[in-house]
This record gives sequence, structure tokens and C-alpha cells, in this order.
Amino acid sequence: MTDSLHEQGAAAPVLDPSFSTEIVADGRADAPEAVLAHDVAAEPAAPEGPHPFAKLGLAPELVAAVRDLGYIEPTAVQTKAIPMAMPGNEEQDASAAGFVDLMVSSQTGSGKTAAFLLPVLHTLLLQQQREEEEAKAEHARLAAEAAARGEAPPKKPRRVNPTQSRNFKAAVPGALVLCPTRELAQQVAHDAIELVRHCRGLRIANVVGGMPYQLQIARLQNANLVVATPGRLLDLQRSMQIKLDQVRFLVVDEADRMLDLGFADDLAEINQLTIQRQQTMMFSATFAPRIQQLAARVMREPRKVQIDSPQQKHANIRQVLHWADHASHKRALLDHWLRDPAIQQAVVFASTQIECDGLANDLQQAGFSAVALHGALSQGLRNRRLMALRNGQVQILVATDVAARGIDVPTISHVFNFGLPMKAEDYTHRIGRTGRAGRDGIAVTFAEFRDQRRIFDIEAFTKQQFQPEVIEGMEPTRRAPTAQPPRGGAGRGR
Ligand code: AMP
Repeated sequence: MTDSLHEQGAAAPVLDPSFSTEIVADGRADAPEAVLAHDVAAEPAAPEGPHPFAKLGLAPELVAAVRDLGYIEPTAVQTKAIPMAMPGNEEQDASAAGFVDLMVSSQTGSGKTAAFLLPVLHTLLLQQQREEEEAKAEHARLAAEAAARGEAPPKKPRRVNPTQSRNFKAAVPGALVLCPTRELAQQVAHDAIELVRHCRGLRIANVVGGMPYQLQIARLQNANLVVATPGRLLDLQRSMQIKLDQVRFLVVDEADRMLDLGFADDLAEINQLTIQRQQTMMFSATFAPRIQQLAARVMREPRKVQIDSPQQKHANIRQVLHWADHASHKRALLDHWLRDPAIQQAVVFASTQIECDGLANDLQQAGFSAVALHGALSQGLRNRRLMALRNGQVQILVATDVAARGIDVPTISHVFNFGLPMKAEDYTHRIGRTGRAGRDGIAVTFAEFRDQRRIFDIEAFTKQQFQPEVIEGMEPTRRAPTAQPPRGGAGRGR
């Protein structure tokens, strides 16, 4: 299943004049793919100081990477989840391997990626070091035996170049991270590569649809941790390019989204293929009943970690609502906002791919540096547009929900909901594109009066009421609707 199936009204990709060919030529334009597989040369680890991440019990190589990334303190989800996810923690009950399964509810932007990557990488690193020591000891033993017999020591096996296609072997990763969308998978793989920069020989590979098959296979070689979307992973497993029976750690990221996108059967299959694993972690925005049912199927007595309730979320994001009389009123309000000089970069959400293309075109015509991003565009184009956003070559990204998942660009100062999200929880994911990495953000929602049901749903989900605002000279002709009491809750009139 491709994510584009979940957006409506697929249309031809927009040709964007603001998107120069330099970006294509720029080495960095390829970065999301170019960095997918990574074998780090022996870089010396920075000396370990009293870094707060060291207190979580992480290996010095990982603490050094975290220090390089400028993380000073672990975030709430990291403080809570990392020690629980580490092996042999005293908090853990006697599961044979010393690992517990974790079910973590944490919003995007909270540092959840490092919360699952760090403990998994830590354990992979320890395993790798142990295996190397065992191999060394075995070689020393054989050498001593040979010497006792007066023979030459045994030769070490010749190293083959794993990147040559004639040496390709099925990958046998020890850890697997599943993500619902390509963009999120690429972001997670990118974060993992940053975190293993001081770990010699730990390889990260990214498996997503849209990448040429051969290239994907090349990049899978010797991968220790694979970050994948379920469909392409199963394709590669069926064609025996990857074996999942050595997977010890399985992480399901954004499990709620995974179910929304119809990956339940794929998850069940991957669950079976990795049934001998030692640990499963599931991250989700909510613990909705369907997530709990999934957890019951794929985890053993998971421990729950709840970080934020929807009410506490996004305290650093100012949320604004404008009621509009009709679509062109909404468009004028958007135009007004986009001319605000305080905007560094913005994501404008559209409801459908057609609306997304149309709006991006419109904004280009109006002189904005805007591009569209949605699931009907080729993966290469999506990557280049995201990279252009990241590099500051594009100011406004017009996106659908699926395509915008996982976008992590700290300079996004504003999020605009031009088309409302289909589901209330998508609102939370959308606005989480701003206010990242400790910054403040503004999320502006435009609603026509006929959308009031959806606005009430969002208020019920976030347990926060919008305070509608008006722009002088652009007021709606009707009065703002009054909120309805939340279903099943106490009244909360305005
Ligand atoms: P995530 O919730 O994993 O998408 O992370 C959101 C952003 O926070 C990413 O840009 C991370 O690099 C950043 N981040 C993660 N952990 C920390 C930390 N402990 N300190 C500062 N930034 C962090």
C-alpha cells in the first residue's frame, strides 16, 4: 500500500519555478538518500564528561554523539523511556533477556526518536563489542593451539567488500524500526546515522518505497538497524534480500498512523517474522483502544509510559482560529498571514492533493516561494522539495497530512490549516511541525462556518478551546459559532 492512496484527488505534480536545478546538482539535495546507509570510519569518541545522557547508562560513543548534536538534557520521554528500555534495569521484572516491552504515548517533537534509538543502539553496540571480543578470543585460542603444534597461526578470514554486487548477501539486521511514511522513515534513519557517528561499524539502512530496488539492496548490506516502511520491507523479505529472524528489537513508530494507513496486516506479518525478538516498543500519539488492541497482539505485558496529555501539548505554540465566510475569504486571510514578516518558513496544510497543487500554484503566482508536497509526487521530487525547505531555498511548503508527517525543520515558524484535517488527531500532528527543538511556533486554522463540527472535534480532542480571532477589515459577516459541550464530558460554554 502506498501512502498516496490515502490522499484524495491525486493530480499531476506541479512544476515549480522556484525550484532551481542547482538543488538537484547540489550534493546535499540527495542527502536523504545519500546518507541512508552509513558505515562510520573509526572516529575517536569524545571524552566522556558528566553529561546527563551518561547518567541514563548509555555507551560513551552514544553520549559523545548526543553531545555533538547539542542535546544538553534528556527530554521527558527520554528520561522516562531510555532507562526502562535498557537491558537488565532493576525496575524490570525477570523477563529472561532482561528487556521489557514499552508502549509510549508521546507527541512528535518531544524527542521520541532518540528515546527509542538510543537504547536500541546501545544494546546493538554492546552485542557487537561482545561478538568482536569472542571472535578475538577464539582466534587467540586457535593461534595458541597452532603454536603448540608448531604450526603457523590460522589466517583471519579475508575481508570482502560488501558494497560490490557480487558479494551481496541477504541483510540480517538485529533491530528494526517501522514507520508509517517514507518521510518519517528517512528522518528516523537520518537521526540514527547521527547517533552512530562514533560507533565503529554499526550500519543503518533505510528501506522505503520509491527507491530503486538495486540501490536499496546495496544499501542494506550488513545493516545492523533497518528503518523501514512496512510494504517495501515485506517486498524485500519475500525476495529474500532481508531476513528478519535475527531481529531482537522491534520499534513501531507512530502506531496510530500505521493503523490509519491500513498497515495492520503488514504489522501482523512482521510480528510473526520477528517473533523471536527480545523487545518491542510502540510509540503512538494516543493510547486509543485500537492501539491497545494492537499492543496486546504484538507485545508481552507492555509497560506504559505516558508523557503528555493532549491538553498539555504544544504549550509553546500559539493556536489561532479564524472563521471565514467562504473559500476566497479563507484564501485572503491566508494571504494576509503569509505577508507577515515574522514568518521564517511555513507549512500550509491542504485537505487533498488537488487542493495542495492548486494552492501551491496560486501562491507561486502571488509571488511566494512555495512548493507542493503530497503522496502522488515521485519520491525523488519529494526528497528534493523537502531538502529545499530544509536548506531555506523554499519558504512555504503546501502539504497534505501524509506527506508532512515526520518533517523536522526547526525554522518552520508557522503552520496554517487551510484545509482542515480529516481527523482531529491529525490537527495535533500538523501543528507539531512548528515549535520544534525548543522554539516557539504559531498555528493558524482557517474554518468556514460549515466546518464547525470539525472544529468542535478538534477542541474535544485537544481539550482546548480556540479563541477565534479577527483581522481588521477582514472580519467574517457571521458571528462565530459557540462551542458544543464535549461528548461525554461536562459542559464548557464559552
Ligand atoms: P522527535 O520528537 O524525535 O521528532 O524530535 C524533535 C526534535 O528534537 C529533533 O530535532 C531532535 O533532534 C531534537 N531533540 C531530541 N532530543 C533532544 C534533546 N534531548 N535536546 C534537544 N533537542 C532534542
